[in-house]
This record gives sequence, C-alpha cells and structure tokens, in this order.
Amino acid sequence: MNTRIRKIAFYDSFRCLGTKCPLNCCHGWKVPVEDELAKEYKKTRGLLGLRLRCSLSGGREDPHFSRYLLRCPMHDPDGLCSLQKKRGENFIPSVCRSFPREWANTGAFVEQTLDLTCIEAARLFIEASGGGGAGLAWTESDGEWIEERAGDNDDPEFLNELTALRDVTISRILDGVISSPEDLDDLIFELADAAKRRQNDILKTAEGGLHRIRLFPFSIMLLNELMSTCFFEDILRLSEPSLYRMCRRYYRIFDRMTEIEGQKKLEEMFGRFFEGAEGRSRLNAAKSYFAYCLMRSWYETYEDYSFLRRIKEAAINLNIVLLFELLSFEEGRLDTMMRSSILSMCEKRIRHNGDVFDELMRTLDARF
Ligand code: SF4
Repeated sequence: MNTRIRKIAFYDSFRCLGTKCPLNCCHGWKVPVEDELAKEYKKTRGLLGLRLRCSLSGGREDPHFSRYLLRCPMHDPDGLCSLQKKRGENFIPSVCRSFPREWANTGAFVEQTLDLTCIEAARLFIEASGGGGAGLAWTESDGEWIEERAGDNDDPEFLNELTALRDVTISRILDGVISSPEDLDDLIFELADAAKRRQNDILKTAEGGLHRIRLFPFSIMLLNELMSTCFFEDILRLSEPSLYRMCRRYYRIFDRMTEIEGQKKLEEMFGRFFEGAEGRSRLNAAKSYFAYCLMRSWYETYEDYSFLRRIKEAAINLNIVLLFELLSFEEGRLDTMMRSSILSMCEKRIRHNGDVFDELMRTLDARF
C-alpha cells in the first residue's frame, strides 16, 4: 500500500557493525522463525540442514531458535550469521533481517524508529539526542509499505487525537525548561496524572487521579523492589554477564543499608551526577530518552486505550537506565560506549522480556 511514512531523524544512519560489534545481538533471544521458512529449513540438505533441524525448537506451533543458549545456534565464531553467509538475506528470519528497525503501522501512516537494544542504534540515539529536540525530529515522505498492521482499530478521530496529544507531550518534554531532577519528576507525574484522567474519560470509569509518588528518580525502596522481584536473576550471569556485573555492583553498594541510609546515599550520588554543566547535559539526555520511549510506543494506545501505560513504561525504562548510568559514573566509566551498552542491555531486559516487564509494571502499579 502507498502511505505516509515518518522516520526518526537518525534512522537512516544505522549500519550494522557486524564482526566489530562489541555487544552482538545474536545471543540471549528466542528468535521466531516464520512457518514457511521453518518448512524450508526442514527440507534443507547436507550439514546446514542437519544443523538447522538440531537448532529449531517449538515444533509446528511456535518454531524458533532457542533463547537461553549464549548465542544463536546459527551464529558462527567469526561473528557472522551462517544462514546469511551461505544462503543470503532471504534465508534468515524476518526479525533478524529487520533488526533493529521497528515500526508502528496505524493503518493511516507508518512510523519507523530504531530499537535501542542494538548498541549501534543506542549510540546513534545518544549522538542524535545530544543536540536537543532536533535530533529526535521526524522526516516524512510517501512510500510503499508491505508489512501488515499488528492491530485493527478503526477510529480516525481517536487517532487524530493521539497524534495531536503526542506532539504536545513531546514538545512539552523536549522544549520545556527542566533544570533539576525534581522538575523532571514533576513533569512525568503531571503527564501520568493527565494520562490517567483522559483514560478515565474515554473508558468512562469513575476512577480518580493518581496517588503522588516520586517518578524520577525512583526511591531506593522502589528500586530495591524492582531489582529483586524481577529485574535481577542469576541466569543473567550466563545470558547477559555485563548486566549481571552491574546488578551486583548495585547490591554491593545498597544491600547492607537500611532504606533510610540507601535513600540518602542514592540522593548524594544523583546530586553529583546532575551537578554543573555536565550534569545539566545528563538531565537533558534523560528527558530525551524519556521522550523517545514515548515516541516509539505511543500508537500502542490506539489499540489498548491505555495512555497511562505508555508513561509508566517510559518511567521504568528511564529510571533503570539512569540507575546503571549512575553506578558507572561513580566508577568514572561513563563514556558514550558505556552509555550505549547500558541502554542496549536494559532495553533488552525490559522491552523484550514480557515476564520481566509485566512484573515491573505490577510493582510500579502497586505504588499508585
Ligand atoms: S547489535 Fe546492532 S550493530 Fe551489533 S550486530 Fe546486532 S544489529 Fe549489528
């Protein structure tokens, strides 16, 4: 179909780092394989066919390459995909072909963004958002689009409202004066409260506004809960060793403290983190990340009518990423590469792990 296509400004700058990638994406995932492709794999002859049949799990219902192997079974020691090398792009699952490109197809238009789980996409985002809102602008054109929509809502009036509301929300975040973490906290809470009220209007529920809690930075009590109920698991030692080490660092600092001591320590650390000119640029980076989280997930509201969920998702992402940035900053290791790694690992753990994500949401919901 011919449609309007918007791309995030840094979208076309993406080039896969291939063998030079320090945090290759071919590990730790359950990689879905399309039915037709799975059939083709099963018919493949020779050593490649044997390897494919040994690596495919899930039967006919849910064909996939396994998730908890340290790397995809098709990932060769030279850092490249053996399927792509031997049989070309059309022989790899579509999720691998498109990663880290992602899109939202509303039926009226399409928006394309980059998934920051890819360390190079994360680096491009950091670079683009450093210069303020311009790096997070959209480019627009008309073009052919073949990927199907995920949802089926047909409510042009609501879609228009969503579009207008997002424009206002994003410029509020990117163009507003945020000079302290408290300002950002106020803004996030205000957006969450407004989202809840609009949601109540649309769904005609009698629920009220939200209980005021701190949404940036989260309290140590909430962080402890998020970390220990779901974010940190021993399996990370194998599947994401760098993230495992960062979580251990968190526990080394805060585990033996009372909540009052931990909260004081956290505030002191954030005080240093947001100090001076560099601190202000970190605050700008934080609000840009919050804005980007909203931008790419916004149109999910077209299907679930949950404005509030979008704000909560973005707040969880922001707080966890900033926590690990803070820990690296305290160790004097927070350069662009470290920030890209943190973004990439946290995004993978939160956005692409449904169980962890649902548990994080439940934990935050209990506070409201
Ligand atoms: S993480 Fe990104 S840059 Fe690295 S191999 Fe995967 S797609 Fe390429």
